[in-house]
Amino acid sequence: MSLKLYDSMAREKRDFAPADPKRVTLYVCGPTVYNYAHIGNARAAVAFDLLNRVLRRRYGADCVVYARNITDIDDKIIKAARETGEPIARITETYADAYREDMAALGVLRPDIEPTATGHIADMIAMIDRLLGEGAAYAAEGHVLFSIDAYEAYGQLSGADRDEMLAGARVEVAPYKKNPADFVLWKPSKADEPGWETPARWGLEGPGRPGWHLECSAMIARQLGETIDIHGGGQDLRFPHHENEIAQSACAHGGAPLARYWMHNGFLRMGSDKMSKSLGNIVLAHDLLKRWPGEAVRWALLSAHYRQPLEWTDDLLTQSRRQLDRFYRLLQELPEDPSSPDPEPPQSIVLALEDDLNTPEAFAGLHALRDIAAQTDGAARTNAILRLRAAGRLMGFFNVVPVDWFHGATGGATRGATGRAAGSAAKGDAPDGPSAEEIEALLAERAEARKAKNFARADEIRDSLAARGVVIEDGPDGAAWRRS
Ligand code: AMP
Ligand code: ZN
Repeated sequence: MSLKLYDSMAREKRDFAPADPKRVTLYVCGPTVYNYAHIGNARAAVAFDLLNRVLRRRYGADCVVYARNITDIDDKIIKAARETGEPIARITETYADAYREDMAALGVLRPDIEPTATGHIADMIAMIDRLLGEGAAYAAEGHVLFSIDAYEAYGQLSGADRDEMLAGARVEVAPYKKNPADFVLWKPSKADEPGWETPARWGLEGPGRPGWHLECSAMIARQLGETIDIHGGGQDLRFPHHENEIAQSACAHGGAPLARYWMHNGFLRMGSDKMSKSLGNIVLAHDLLKRWPGEAVRWALLSAHYRQPLEWTDDLLTQSRRQLDRFYRLLQELPEDPSSPDPEPPQSIVLALEDDLNTPEAFAGLHALRDIAAQTDGAARTNAILRLRAAGRLMGFFNVVPVDWFHGATGGATRGATGRAAGSAAKGDAPDGPSAEEIEALLAERAEARKAKNFARADEIRDSLAARGVVIEDGPDGAAWRRS
């Protein structure tokens, strides 16, 4: 069966066929690192992580190259440095690290390549040279601008009327632009701003720095090639960012298209508004992960199809956690045996995911497997649980040891699907209950009390733990506990 992806350029689902199945290339616009990522940003990272996993399953992990950039030079970063008095490099390093850690906690595999803008300045300068040589760029008042009239197909991705696009996206109007939609490739840097030497051949003076759109085009060309298989990002990036990437890359590369498939995730919303820093209605993934297991947040993020809007509520998280609890209860029955790998996930779930990442249908498949497991026993039950685990793992779930899942209010120790992506939600402590250490100590005291036939004390411990949200289950190997 074919893998089908909705291509935002063609505006339809298309069968996906990579140019080279031995080297499938995926690029996603990553974070601008001057603050923690909000949960809307995380939606993009998680959606494309799922795509990465589906591609890796289909073509082999060694045959997929996934690059997600780090934008570490940008006006917003400069502003943050001015406001906090911190050096730019400290800000970008701090938030790039935080981003990696938070995304790992959400089960997002580390991309194969994480190019930084500042690591590709020479490539950007070379690209500007080519664009100037092609007559697709011009220097004006200290800037180098891309001339959108040089690219006939400009606007094809967003498909909207150009004036409408400009009004909607608040493109900066400047008197030195030949066309109001022309965009900056290089701009002058003031003395207190980071800058690189502007080539004298451009007829400009003083240090300068690249425009945001150029960064991605240069990083893609350097890391993945002139034409890649899939380019992704949030819906808000279609215009002007992706439109500009498309135009400048094609003009710099003799007309070669930048990407063969374009994919965009829908917005995560708070009420009726898109979650965004400028509206101030953000929930940081970093904060959420202190209170919720990473897998519960991931579950919530994948609960709607990636192209649909997703309404973010506390209830969504509570439901997600509850559903995971039910799955983990079943998985707990079958301790993992490292010597026998999981079977293949059921075909129906693979098909759902290969149908443009249809997560609602894939979740329905997980629930159906759980029902089968609940209604059977013996080998049939074991098989259903194993297939359930395999399917969940394909989607980035069930990486916590079940007993830790129930012990840690934040999810317990995460096994990390790649070994590198260990979750930070591994503290095992609970914000609203006794710590794991305290529970273990009380259980030890209870065992002693029972040995001494002091059943009153043993019951007292059980009741006090129950009142604090900890359930004790006595079994042949002693007492186990979980948070209720
Ligand atoms: P930014 O750091 O704003 O450039 O955003 C990083 C990624 O998150 C981009 O792919 C954005 O399109 C995406 N994004 C930002 N806000 C949202 C949102 N509310 N819902 C979904 N994706 C978003
Ligand atoms: Zn980009």
